[in-house]
Amino acid sequence: MEIREVQADHYVIPLPVALSDSTHGTIRGFELITARVRDVEGAEGVGYTYTVGAGGAAVLALLTRDLAPLLVGRDAERIEEIWQAMWWALHYGGRGGAQVLAMSAIDIALWDLRARRQRAPLWRVLGGFDPRVKCYAGGIDLDFPLDALLRQADDHRRRGFRAIKMKVGRPSLREDVERVRAMREHLGADFPLMVDANMRWTVDEAIRAARALAELSPVWLEEPIIPDDVPGHVRIVEEGGLPIAAGENLHTLHEFRALIAAGGVTFPEPDATNCGGVTVFMKVCHLAEAFNLPVTSHGAHDLTVHLLAAAPNRSYLEAHGFGLDRFIAEPLRLERGLAIAPERPGHGIELDWKALDLLRAAR
Ligand SMILES: [Mg+2]
Repeated sequence: MEIREVQADHYVIPLPVALSDSTHGTIRGFELITARVRDVEGAEGVGYTYTVGAGGAAVLALLTRDLAPLLVGRDAERIEEIWQAMWWALHYGGRGGAQVLAMSAIDIALWDLRARRQRAPLWRVLGGFDPRVKCYAGGIDLDFPLDALLRQADDHRRRGFRAIKMKVGRPSLREDVERVRAMREHLGADFPLMVDANMRWTVDEAIRAARALAELSPVWLEEPIIPDDVPGHVRIVEEGGLPIAAGENLHTLHEFRALIAAGGVTFPEPDATNCGGVTVFMKVCHLAEAFNLPVTSHGAHDLTVHLLAAAPNRSYLEAHGFGLDRFIAEPLRLERGLAIAPERPGHGIELDWKALDLLRAAR
């Protein structure tokens, strides 16, 4: 079906509580950039991407100035063809950053449109493995005092979570170890607990941290160092003694290939909103499967639950929505710690456009 129009919008969503991690500073709000793709029969698919506070205007400009005109008149069903056209149109100034965020929003909208037209949930259209996906609550809590950190963990458990991730990367490793130990004692020996350093460390610091944290049995240590250092990741996997999750800052299939093939990651962790959309997320899942690795995910859980529900090698879904739940008609459903991919057509995310209208970014 021919594409009639693409509408892109840019919002700034304030967070209910300011968040902080080891590298991005204090996050008071995030930018949501949406793409709505409509075909000539009036059917619509919705895609989105986000930033942690900066760069959204560039994404909007790429969507409205470059990608919308490229898409109008094309066959919406030929998602791969459209993906390649977008990639090569923006390649010279692209291959990452704003360009791939914009492409991701379009790609997500196209997959939503395809599934809606089939009146099927996205996870079934993508292959349909199992709609019940293990899920953890991702805390952005590096600067929470210890009692607030433990209270947050209790809140997560009350809400049905059976796995939790906390931040590390405090100024001293001793503090990190004390905080993780307190969480471990609070949650019990068998409760799945992940830790995330948001690229804080050097390779040697990361190896020291991994060894110090090993006795507290985290499921994984996430993003110990910058995403670009492939040999560094390999050293950390080999010398640190902990499983490593990484990928929320990898923006292409080829970056995933380099890290996975080198043996630098245990849990590849793509984000559909910044790696090239559903199309590339699923390719990363299949690539990981070929290397016998479990995939996890970053962000956008209402969408990503469908993608992991279609991947036999999935592990945990990250649940962390930047407070977007307020604007979604039916947010993610949990049952005994499992996230359930819905049966509604498409990805099933109905955004509250009226409420979002009040949060439009300044031009
Ligand atoms: Mg992370």
